[in-house]
Amino acid sequence: MSKSEVIPADIKRLDAEDPLAEKRAEFYLPPSVVYLDGNSLGPMPIAARARARSVVEREWADDLITSWNVNRWIELPTIVGDKIGRLIGADSGKVICGDSTSVNLFKVLAAALSLQPKRFKVLSQRGNFPTDLYMVQGLAALLGESRCQLLTASADDLLDQLDESIAVLLLTQVDFRTGKIHDIRKITELAHEKGIVVIWDLAHSAGVIPLWLDDWQVDFAVGCGYKFLNGGPGAPAFLYVAKRHQGACQQPLSGWMGHRQPFEFSDDYHAHASVKQFLCGTPGVLGMSVLDAALSVFEGVQIQALRKKSLALIQLCRHLVSERPALSELQLLTPEEPEQSGSQLAYAHSEAYAICQALIARGVIADFRAPNILRLGFSPLFLRFEDIYLSVLALDEIVAERQYLSPRFQARQAVT
Ligand SMILES: *Cc1c(COP(=O)(O)O)cnc(C)c1O
Repeated sequence: MSKSEVIPADIKRLDAEDPLAEKRAEFYLPPSVVYLDGNSLGPMPIAARARARSVVEREWADDLITSWNVNRWIELPTIVGDKIGRLIGADSGKVICGDSTSVNLFKVLAAALSLQPKRFKVLSQRGNFPTDLYMVQGLAALLGESRCQLLTASADDLLDQLDESIAVLLLTQVDFRTGKIHDIRKITELAHEKGIVVIWDLAHSAGVIPLWLDDWQVDFAVGCGYKFLNGGPGAPAFLYVAKRHQGACQQPLSGWMGHRQPFEFSDDYHAHASVKQFLCGTPGVLGMSVLDAALSVFEGVQIQALRKKSLALIQLCRHLVSERPALSELQLLTPEEPEQSGSQLAYAHSEAYAICQALIARGVIADFRAPNILRLGFSPLFLRFEDIYLSVLALDEIVAERQYLSPRFQARQAVT
């Protein structure tokens, strides 16, 4: 990405007036790259790199097994869980960190069903992130259709399907393709009126959208550590369980870390009465330490301020795209109303894959989602308004000059 372009004064002013501008210095970002994929893999906070070194070179190397106590490794799932809790409107003791989002979905799905002995239907959205649907299918295969059955409905029909036969409603707040968001408070309330337990997947929400899970009476939630939380590739995930359910439900992955007294080594499993019941095995200390350090970039930041900047970045991008005649080929899939979208824009184009590859070759990293979506993610902690300007300039040239037709941009790679 060439920075020799002249940045217009009005764009420069947006950066000069940005109250979050200083946060960018807390990340390592490769020079000459505009990173529009923090929604898929957040970039590396400098504190994360320092922590990775110290956990390997000092805690593991020197302190060895004593680290479980002296470096509080054993407490990491709750320490990190509580830090994430502050970003999603959860008091301490509601959130635990560990495993992957997929595994956590399995745990909370089974736990939610255990609260509903007379119901067995799990309602989700057609086109939900695949792992959400797959985990229900796996649980249904294990429990049998008389205990777990997946139903899906389109976004428009979902609310009409909420009736007393549904046990669990499983939804993702931000649609990973279009960026359209659900109103968690309203839908949770409607579902509760019918006695339905609700699970929210916050993969594209945590760290960028203001959430008040406790106030909204949310039952269960899960989310990712490596997207807007910047915890690094394959960072551990999190899960949220409302206090009222913690002693009342059961999750089936009854590993020793979820036991009331793991170090008594008794033969019989007794679940911990708290959210710790949702732990399974030994925490992945390296990854969780790095996520812990990465979360320090959120210190002193209000999520409302992040949301405000993210919507301003999105608005600028949409405006610049709409001004350029060549870019009228791109069809906006994200809702126009700012409060209805997450922190991304999705554009459909038959050559979206090759356009994305051409952008990456120019240092603008975005991603592609099958079959035809160019997805741009807006991480307000480190993106500048000038980055958006430069990205749209690059996009305009690629589309206007049909640069994406070059064979080197057409070949598909394994990860899109
Ligand atoms: C990214 C994402 C996941 C990822 O699940 P993993 O188990 O971490 O691979 C789950 N759900 C949604 C909605 C996602 O966007």
